[in-house]
Amino acid sequence: MKTIADIAAELQGYDPQSLPATTVNSFLSHLVEPVTSHEEVDVFHALGRVLSHDVISPISVPPHDNSAMDGYAFDGAQLTKTNKLNLRVVGTALAGKAWQGKTGPGECVKIMTGAIMPAGLDTVVPQEFVTRHTDQAQAGPSSGADAIAIPPGLLQAGDNRRKLGEDVMKGRPALQKGELLTPAALGLLASLGIEKISVWRKLRVAYFSTGDEILSLGEPPREGAVYDSNRYTVFGLLTRLGCAVIDMGVVRDEPAQLEAAFNRAAGEADAIITSGGVSVGEADFTKAMMQKLGDVAFWKIAMRPGRPMAVGRIGKSVLFGLPGNPVAVMVTFLAFVRPALLQMMGCKARPTPLLKARSLEALRKKPGRTEYQRGTVTTAPDGSLQVKTTGNQGSGVLSSMVQANGLIVLHHDQGNVAPGDEIDVMMFDGII
Ligand code: AMP
Ligand code: MG
Repeated sequence: MKTIADIAAELQGYDPQSLPATTVNSFLSHLVEPVTSHEEVDVFHALGRVLSHDVISPISVPPHDNSAMDGYAFDGAQLTKTNKLNLRVVGTALAGKAWQGKTGPGECVKIMTGAIMPAGLDTVVPQEFVTRHTDQAQAGPSSGADAIAIPPGLLQAGDNRRKLGEDVMKGRPALQKGELLTPAALGLLASLGIEKISVWRKLRVAYFSTGDEILSLGEPPREGAVYDSNRYTVFGLLTRLGCAVIDMGVVRDEPAQLEAAFNRAAGEADAIITSGGVSVGEADFTKAMMQKLGDVAFWKIAMRPGRPMAVGRIGKSVLFGLPGNPVAVMVTFLAFVRPALLQMMGCKARPTPLLKARSLEALRKKPGRTEYQRGTVTTAPDGSLQVKTTGNQGSGVLSSMVQANGLIVLHHDQGNVAPGDEIDVMMFDGII
């Protein structure tokens, strides 16, 4: 396990007094390690969990060539560009059982969506494309057999046929180790007939708030004190991520209480998240206790909001000491903690893509730090994306996070933004 000093020595341009946001991510990716034990869960309990093994498909889906439409199956080699095709209907193929008959040239089989394609037939004409009539010429005046006519130019051979294994082929990996199981993945597992699946164990994350001015819910308001919102935000963020949460309340700024809290958290959790008490001028004991109990670095990150952050290990747990301001907590979580926790969860998730949107206003920005502003992204009348900030961008203004649907990311070297400029946004709907 690498120490803070080991990682710092390996990183180019590591300056704890002014750390670029991208360096924070690389540092954390060296600090954290994925969980190593797994468990078996049934598919209904696998949502949001991370696969610990590749899933090799035991069957092909679909298991047979079948029809994608209600219509008539025929041999597509008979289609021509210019002439309509007349076919006699010699049977009906229903979904759920194979039609056993045989067809010859000039013949077709009425077929339902999902029914197995009869042998030798590769094309389906949807029923709304054909004219249907009683075929007097071929069947004789009294047989009453049906026939259809397909107009030229509508179809190509192979149309409206779903091929065996076109979704998943037997013996091939259907899902890969490290995949976060979404509703679509649950459906895919079920389509393979799989009832139980092996996933990495849940990550246990303990969190508490620090600061003597922080009130727990239920306590009467008092002058100079604020209610603890960070625990609730962090609880929500961790729960959405699929972590097992250990809520440790508000911890008073008092050495014995802090020491007990850190020791309990380190004993029970893979990661510890605290808020408050890590800024430069803090006269409290939080930083001192982190330093005493663990291997911890104290950073000033070149970002806004969220400058101070403590990172390291206490025992085997990874420590994320977040700043106290409510918006800074959310932004540092999204930018740094979330990707690190996903790595610990064994997840090989793609990083959340940044989208481009046109700024509806001028934004002031100093080069030399990354800024995350709260934005509302909407679709302009021409179909492109546009974004507006949610007003007051103070790092304590939590209502700005409630109104926003994404973060505007103004990168380290970027300067002022003029109205109409394209800027990057990180959407967070569905993530937080
Ligand atoms: P700190 O990082 O401890 O200097 O705190 C910065 C600001 O965030 C101060 O105004 C604190 O009152 C506020 N703050 C700290 N912790 C919390 C919390 N758990 N809930 C709401 N506000 C907080
Ligand atoms: Mg404080």
